[in-house]
Amino acid sequence: MSTARTLRLAHIDPQRCIGCTRCIDACPFDAIIGAPQRMHTVVAASCIGCALCLPPCPVDCIALVEAQPPAPLTRAQAIEARARRERRRERLAREAAAPVELDRTERLAAALRRAQQRHAGAARTAGANER
Ligand code: SF4
Ligand code: SF4
Repeated sequence: MSTARTLRLAHIDPQRCIGCTRCIDACPFDAIIGAPQRMHTVVAASCIGCALCLPPCPVDCIALVEAQPPAPLTRAQAIEARARRERRRERLAREAAAPVELDRTERLAAALRRAQQRHAGAARTAGANER
């Protein structure tokens, strides 16, 4: 007889979800999809039932329910979940670095504008000296 526990999955009550997105931020496995102010839903194939999305929900509309048909978390699912968590970490790190990239782009654009203004100013001066 197997002693492995049956997997439980998060389920969001669509009638009560207010689309606050807090559960998306809390799920380390990218198993929840939805947009701000819209109903959110759990991608069952990606959920491992860690329950980390439950506490942040302000309307308490997430519950863990037994997977159907009942089955334990497989090793392959656990490996895939770890890979998704890693990809999420990398994505969040990239997003955190994005403002720096934007600043750099803005700095480059400003430097280009200054160079163009200098060039235009030099051209006007040269034109005036030729007259
Ligand atoms: S139970 Fe865990 S894996 Fe499933 S949706 Fe919630 S936070 Fe994500
Ligand atoms: S935290 Fe709760 S209310 Fe907010 S989007 Fe998720 S399920 Fe909906």
